[in-house]
Amino acid sequence: MKKVRCPICEKAMDSQGPKEWPDWPFCCHRYKMVDLGRWLGGNYRIETPVSQEDLDDFEELAHSPEPAAPSADPHREEA
Ligand SMILES: [Zn+2]
Repeated sequence: MKKVRCPICEKAMDSQGPKEWPDWPFCCHRYKMVDLGRWLGGNYRIETPVSQEDLDDFEELAHSPEPAAPSADPHREEA
C-alpha cells in the first residue's frame, strides 16, 4: 500500500489503487469533480454544435477544385 496525496486538499491517504477507489487519487468525489472542472475550463472548450450551414460550407470546400501546384518553390534559394 502506498501513500497518495489528494491533489485538491493535499490530504495524505493510504492508496489501494484506482480499481478499489473510484475517485482516486482524490479524497472524495467532489474534489474529483472540482479537478475535472478545472481541466475542462482550462484546456478544453465545447464548441457550438455544428449547424446545417456549417455542413454546407464543408461540402463546398470538399468539392472545390484543388489549387494548382506551384511549379517551383519561390522560397528556395539558388545554389
Ligand atoms: Zn482531498
